[in-house]
Amino acid sequence: MNHAALIASAEAARGFAHAPYSGFKVGAALETDDGEIISGCNIENATLGLTMCAERVALFKAISMGKTRFVRCAIATAAEKPTPPCGSCRQLLWEFAGDVEILLTRDRQLLEAHRLQDLFPLAFDRTHFQPETTAQPANNADCT
Ligand SMILES: [Zn+2]
Repeated sequence: MNHAALIASAEAARGFAHAPYSGFKVGAALETDDGEIISGCNIENATLGLTMCAERVALFKAISMGKTRFVRCAIATAAEKPTPPCGSCRQLLWEFAGDVEILLTRDRQLLEAHRLQDLFPLAFDRTHFQPETTAQPANNADCT
């Protein structure tokens, strides 16, 4: 797939962004390994803390559709400076999409392309989990 369709989808999703508090509208579009595009936009609310980024909206939407293999993610904003995914989105993209290509765009133009691994080095993920072998069952017999 060429990048134009993916970037256009991210830009179109940006048009649905709900960002009355920050005014910072973001669109994202994920490309699956079979060429499907799933997009999302940022969605703010009055608590601000419950705001959801466009990348995670697209990711969760894709996962809920049974999509699990991704090749790239385009992110669209109107900001002068290319806008990379935030730390939370980097963590979740790494976990669910792996080392995908990240396209930073504005006005349907590609500004920068990065590998997620370059944006998120030394990622914490499931490879860090190991079964605990030293845990002992509690012995209440000594508590008299
Ligand atoms: Zn984010």
